Amino acid sequence: MKILTVEVYKADIPLAAPFRIALGETTVANNVLIKIHTDEELYGVGEASPFTPIVGETQATDLAAAKDFGGLLIGKDPLDVENRLRELHSYLAHNATVRSAFDIALYDLLGKAADLPLYSVLAGGKRTILTDRTVGIASAKEMAQQALAFKERGFPAVKVKLGTTPYEDIERVRRIREALGQEIPLRIDANQGWDCVSALRVLKSIEGQNIQYCEQPVAAWDVASLRKVSANTTIPIMADESLFDEHDAFRLLSTEACDYLNIKLAKAGGIHTALKINAIAEAAGVSCMMGCMSETRLGLTAAAHVVSARPNIEFADLDSADMLSADPVIGGLIYGDGGTVILPDTPGHGADIDPAFLKDLESYVVD
Ligand code: MG
Repeated sequence: MKILTVEVYKADIPLAAPFRIALGETTVANNVLIKIHTDEELYGVGEASPFTPIVGETQATDLAAAKDFGGLLIGKDPLDVENRLRELHSYLAHNATVRSAFDIALYDLLGKAADLPLYSVLAGGKRTILTDRTVGIASAKEMAQQALAFKERGFPAVKVKLGTTPYEDIERVRRIREALGQEIPLRIDANQGWDCVSALRVLKSIEGQNIQYCEQPVAAWDVASLRKVSANTTIPIMADESLFDEHDAFRLLSTEACDYLNIKLAKAGGIHTALKINAIAEAAGVSCMMGCMSETRLGLTAAAHVVSARPNIEFADLDSADMLSADPVIGGLIYGDGGTVILPDTPGHGADIDPAFLKDLESYVVD
């Protein structure tokens, strides 16, 4: 099998409401979609959702890189995923998010060529996945109302964005707990908003409030502080922005800097490296979460297959499609009751983009 053409699409999908975290506010998902066509009438589809303050990529840089990546792939065997991804990575360092779109499309092709759903290609099974739902930063009162709405929709856990000031963040958790009661776990995420002192001030004051874990309390680069925070609170600490690839996973876990890892395809460069990160975590006796940026159900479906195939990925935060104002995806995962995520059994990842949505987008063909 040979790659004939690569189509690249600029896809802007407004969020239903602005979503604020410590690093800034998102109102539109500025994503990139790609389609890899082969000489056997099979094609693979992938998605990149660059969250600029974390990954250092923009939609414009991803579009430019995608055209170059397309050129590197033409005429080559898409089923040799290992070597195709090596070629992309050695051509362009970093840029994990745009690489993830190509990785997802190549794994999609692998599944279609094998006539197997992606979880089977990954040598795993189909299992029930539960996602949380995330409350963005707002006033304590607004966040409590939103959290209650998500609890009432049956989500098994509510994720709460924090990371402004310790005083405000403690008040947010207090108001949310007042609205929700103690039973439903809260997952909190400071998105690097605190330093070591502020992190410990907040975490010490909310210990005992059924906090399942705290994501990325301190700056991405500050692994020493991450380790110090982990060592001084009973709340488990999860690395997110400090973790991109398998090298980060090894460094974080061999220095006991955190208790859990948050894998995202957009940081890892896709499924291939996500599996390596999870394997390192498993070797260290550490569970992972699968998270997301602002992907449609397409990117989320690829991520959910990885979760399904690897039970060591214990937690899922795959709620971005629930925040978008439109759903341009055909097939793919569906959201069921109580935060369930249900995967399709169709070959590949099973998600595609509605041609009616694609035809109006700015696009490029590499051949
Ligand atoms: Mg996070």
